[in-house]
Amino acid sequence: MIRDNFRILQVNLATGRGNVVTLEGRDSVVGGSGLAALLFSKYGLPDKPWDDPDQPLIFAIGPLTGYFPLMSKTVCAFKSPYHDQYAESHAGGRSALALRFADLDALVITGKAAKPSCIAVASQNLVIKELPFVWGKDVFESGRMLRGLVKRGSGHRTIMRIGPAGENGFAMAAINADTYRHFGRLGGGAVMGRKNLKAILIEGDASFSLPDSKEYPKVFQETYTKVTGKDMMKYHDIGTPINMAVLNETKMLPIRNLQRTTDPAMSNISGEKFADDVLLRNAACAGCPVGCIHIGFVRERYTKEHRYIYRQVSYDHEPIFAVGAMLSVTNPFHVLAIIDISEKVGLDVMSAGVALAWATEATEKGIISEKETIVPLSFGDTEGYKQAMDHLGRGTNEFYTLLAQGTLRAAEHYGGKEYACVLGQEMAGYATGEVYFTSQALGFRHSHLDSGGYSFDQKEKGKDVPKAVDFLVKDEQGRALLTSMVACLFARGVYTDEMLIACLKAVGYGSIADNLGAVGRNIQQLRWKMRLATGYVPENVAMPKRFYEVTTAKGPVDPAYLAGLTAEYAKAIRKLGSDS
Ligand code: SF4
Repeated sequence: MIRDNFRILQVNLATGRGNVVTLEGRDSVVGGSGLAALLFSKYGLPDKPWDDPDQPLIFAIGPLTGYFPLMSKTVCAFKSPYHDQYAESHAGGRSALALRFADLDALVITGKAAKPSCIAVASQNLVIKELPFVWGKDVFESGRMLRGLVKRGSGHRTIMRIGPAGENGFAMAAINADTYRHFGRLGGGAVMGRKNLKAILIEGDASFSLPDSKEYPKVFQETYTKVTGKDMMKYHDIGTPINMAVLNETKMLPIRNLQRTTDPAMSNISGEKFADDVLLRNAACAGCPVGCIHIGFVRERYTKEHRYIYRQVSYDHEPIFAVGAMLSVTNPFHVLAIIDISEKVGLDVMSAGVALAWATEATEKGIISEKETIVPLSFGDTEGYKQAMDHLGRGTNEFYTLLAQGTLRAAEHYGGKEYACVLGQEMAGYATGEVYFTSQALGFRHSHLDSGGYSFDQKEKGKDVPKAVDFLVKDEQGRALLTSMVACLFARGVYTDEMLIACLKAVGYGSIADNLGAVGRNIQQLRWKMRLATGYVPENVAMPKRFYEVTTAKGPVDPAYLAGLTAEYAKAIRKLGSDS
């Protein structure tokens, strides 16, 4: 039986108490991104800093989670240590289904625990447990220790935890979800750390009935057929790393701190190379038949004799770009070894890789030296990067502590802002051109997933500012609707508006289905309203000089086009945040 309202568990770590409340608004915010923004409007403190103990940490799922495949993401929302503004970070794993089976639409955590703790949630149960012995442990050790605390098998529970980076309150700290997925960007891990919250365990110990409408099996079969069709199976086969070769060949891959966009050496770390050399197996988020998660391995000798341990490490295009292409590390095993350390210390690997690329160029230019970096950094040197990644997550000295708060913070202190590859946050793995740079720099999550700006660059020949901005606004609206349903964005070609309407009606959410356009617009506006209320000034976003020096397949970046796009997109954002 579906609920028209939301069932929310509020947990206050300061009092050690929790209670379940219901909240109206399903028809206007749906769930996921929309619900998170609604909850922030109720619980958030826009004028207080991100680490105020009363700021909420929010996890929200969508109305179709559990009913249809790939409705498998959880939206985590918080005030970000990166810029002290409202932010969202998304992850899959088992998090969404665990919440659904725990009979919750969202979890809202406020307060700060007196001692390092974890919370364990089930449908009828909440335990806040002090775990001082887990504090200080890395993500892998924490996972092993925490697994013993959950009764259920792996399909129905999620373990979300932080490593040293989160405990240190670093803006690059991720929340690890079920080992291979992450709430990576914008510092959710730091928010947990400041709350003295090492882990969140959710046990999906309840059940729910499937809709008894005649349409449901038919619509389910249709979505299932589509998500397991040829177009989606590319994510299962090579997966997102297939982009590496394509972007490299079209001069759109950021390499060596974006000093170049193509390099023959990158063929050594193509998706095909990873599949041939290091791939062990695929894995999937709960409820997903695609299984796009690619898991390779690293091997380490631990005695003088030939004795080895090996660890499994997941990879995607973005991590390969960040610690492979950006650092000119061109051996798949070496790339995985650096990712592995980033995982262990609980860093967002994309931000961390791009930050180390800046540090390497800063070293080459003599702005910093081994006095700051402790180990020598040079492009292509895996051993240096493995150690540097560990220092970055642990904040070994003043330099790493500053860098872990964002590349621009370090660059403001030491110099070298002009070649910091930061577009709102450390850049993603696409150097497609002006529209994409604008989209990431100003976009809501500063993510390549805010809109398809990268594909606009690749497909459109002209330089039509109004057309590009109109595309960014409309595409973002569609994606905000999908992330409110908590659809995996890989399935955006499957979950068209028509398909979403059929799914919503089959489950019993006809009133959302009847107003899909208006609902999407409302969610987009609400999110921007929260962002602007927490201090975002889109007109002030500046792009480091490096982005003006890039040459892509379309030729050198056009500064006038870029300036026109940023000015107009800022106006559009301002309008979205004030119309509602
Ligand atoms: S396609 Fe990949 S990321 Fe998306 S839900 Fe499936 S396994 Fe998770």
